[in-house]
Amino acid sequence: MSTQITGTLVWYYAICPREAWLMAHEVEPEREFELLAQGRLNQEAHYGRATKELSLPGMRLDQVRREGDRLVVSEVKKSSRFLPATRLQLGYYLWRLREEGVKASGEILIPKERKREAVELTLELAAEVEETMAKIEALLHEPAPPPAVKIPFCKRCAYAEFCWS
Ligand code: SF4
Repeated sequence: MSTQITGTLVWYYAICPREAWLMAHEVEPEREFELLAQGRLNQEAHYGRATKELSLPGMRLDQVRREGDRLVVSEVKKSSRFLPATRLQLGYYLWRLREEGVKASGEILIPKERKREAVELTLELAAEVEETMAKIEALLHEPAPPPAVKIPFCKRCAYAEFCWS
């Protein structure tokens, strides 16, 4: 099992801690997570040519550009349905960059809805990121995942059959 926290893991944790545990422990989903693939295509179709990639240990950012003295990190999503989780995911990236001494801002892009939301690493968001990281660390050391709790995301989740059949 990898205990490396990633932005994706933060996003899943914000949606469902059980899913974050299953992913981190590399429990194979029983069917393809098509929506992930669709999201990827969506991103490539709209922004593939205009952006650069930045890699740090355990973190690969696909959408980065420079604006003045700072970087702008974009996170492209299919819809605004899970915005709080996406804000936390971006907050995690900005927190990591700050730890590396890099000034950065974030933006959430939802091409299908023609939406853009700016995200800054405020004191509140940084505290939320740190709290979330500590909770994920603790969760990943648990010997078993938390029990399944039915949420709207279950319908789109790769682990739906695993949890509910
Ligand atoms: S199916 Fe539902 S409870 Fe199970 S991991 Fe996915 S989101 Fe969580």
